[in-house]
Amino acid sequence: MDHPSPHVLLFPLPIQSPINSMLQLAELFCLAGLQVTFLNTNHNQKLLLRYTNVESRFRQYPRFRFRTISDGLPEENPRSSVQFGELISSLQAVAEPFLREILIGSSSSSDGDTEAPLTCVIPDGLFYYAVDIGNEMGVPVIPFDTISPCCLWIYLCIPKLIQAGEIPFKGNDLDVLFENVAGMQGLLRRRDFPFYRLIDYATDPYCQIALKEVESIPQCNGLILNTFEDLDGPLLSLIRSHCPQTYATGPLHLHLKTKLADKRIPISASSNSLWEEDHSSIQWLDAQPIESVIYVSFGSMATLSKEEILEFWHGLVNSGIRFLWVMRSNLLRGEEMNHQFVKELAEGCKERAYIVSWAPQEKVLAHSAIGGFLTHSGWNSTMESIVQGKPMICWAVYVDQRVTSRFVGEVWKIGVDMKDTCDRYIIEKMVKDLMVTNRDEFKKSAEKLSILAKESVGEGGSSYNALECLVDDIKKLSR
Ligand code: UDP
Repeated sequence: MDHPSPHVLLFPLPIQSPINSMLQLAELFCLAGLQVTFLNTNHNQKLLLRYTNVESRFRQYPRFRFRTISDGLPEENPRSSVQFGELISSLQAVAEPFLREILIGSSSSSDGDTEAPLTCVIPDGLFYYAVDIGNEMGVPVIPFDTISPCCLWIYLCIPKLIQAGEIPFKGNDLDVLFENVAGMQGLLRRRDFPFYRLIDYATDPYCQIALKEVESIPQCNGLILNTFEDLDGPLLSLIRSHCPQTYATGPLHLHLKTKLADKRIPISASSNSLWEEDHSSIQWLDAQPIESVIYVSFGSMATLSKEEILEFWHGLVNSGIRFLWVMRSNLLRGEEMNHQFVKELAEGCKERAYIVSWAPQEKVLAHSAIGGFLTHSGWNSTMESIVQGKPMICWAVYVDQRVTSRFVGEVWKIGVDMKDTCDRYIIEKMVKDLMVTNRDEFKKSAEKLSILAKESVGEGGSSYNALECLVDDIKKLSR
């Protein structure tokens, strides 16, 4: 009897970091010989094609194709973090019928080709509805949770926290420790909780999505995470008590680079950026001494007030340390970044600082002039920093960033958690601490983790084996 050939549908959250990691996973699947369809929103696909060579890069994989759908929002919507909830629900309204259609094979691709039927769906973990649809249509679903595993584990504990009366919070003390998150006793404070301002879980839309995701996990055929056993082993064991087939395949960007190098495929420009990368940042770094620069970036979504930007600026300038800062055009909360404001900041410290609006981050972190990273603790940024063995100062804003930063400071001890303070004197002190005073200590632990990350994706490493196992399971599920 003929079996359908394995054909995977990848469906990322419509924002930079999941698009990055899902494209990396897509390419790893292509290298393993799977047929892959990557479902992107029209809005993001336009940006991806404008700023990257992704189209020509993926042309080497004839069994790969992009499909696009509307995200349901008008083109002029800025799709910033403020509109994130709106984006998720408008996309759901479009995606639900589309997924049903594509899973029964009644939708043909834009070029009119008839496609092999889809045999596995890999949606972002937040798209809990894709699990129901897959089950309804008899197609296996293995979500890829692109958030940090420490955050996912907290999500899985939310029902228990509600039952124990730990949430919603009683009182305003953010330093109260949680008692019912296994593996995090004595560590997790309310201020580290993903929804740290939680007043009522029943009305908090993000907490409700997290709860729906938690309900969907036992109905899945597995779960993919962008981490490695030596980093998150204890948490992975806990997560496996809810989903035994949890594949820890990360760090995915390094995994992909390693596989491409093994197959002697050139790793040219492999950006998946939705913004134009400013490569003058690399030229500037080329002229700086080794490990003398701290890289400052708050990812693709977080916003800061003008006061916060100025506190960071003064703290950095007063530290006397060189810095490279990514100031996105939408970094300033509530208003467009004024060119004059950025120009004045840059002029104020041009001998020691450089500002760009978007950087080739992986290359920046890999540069020998970089000695540390002042980050918002997004999961991709954290993994990219770990791979390069660069210690971090964490200034988390929301969701997984809040608990990831706690792990950076207290569990992995590869940096400091500056959470909830934005004061120029503290910033100055922490920058000096990371880059000078306690540099050797941080560097040692960061480099140790970097070695473990590299081993995990090498032949026989835990992430290498997890990916092989995932690909085998996808093939078996296709039969
Ligand atoms: N990034 C980049 N250039 C920049 C800033 C960020 O390429 O100037 C990339 C970075 O490498 C990472 C992603 O954008 O892969 C940000 O993801 P993360 O999970 O750290 O944060 P988020 O944007 O989701 O808050």
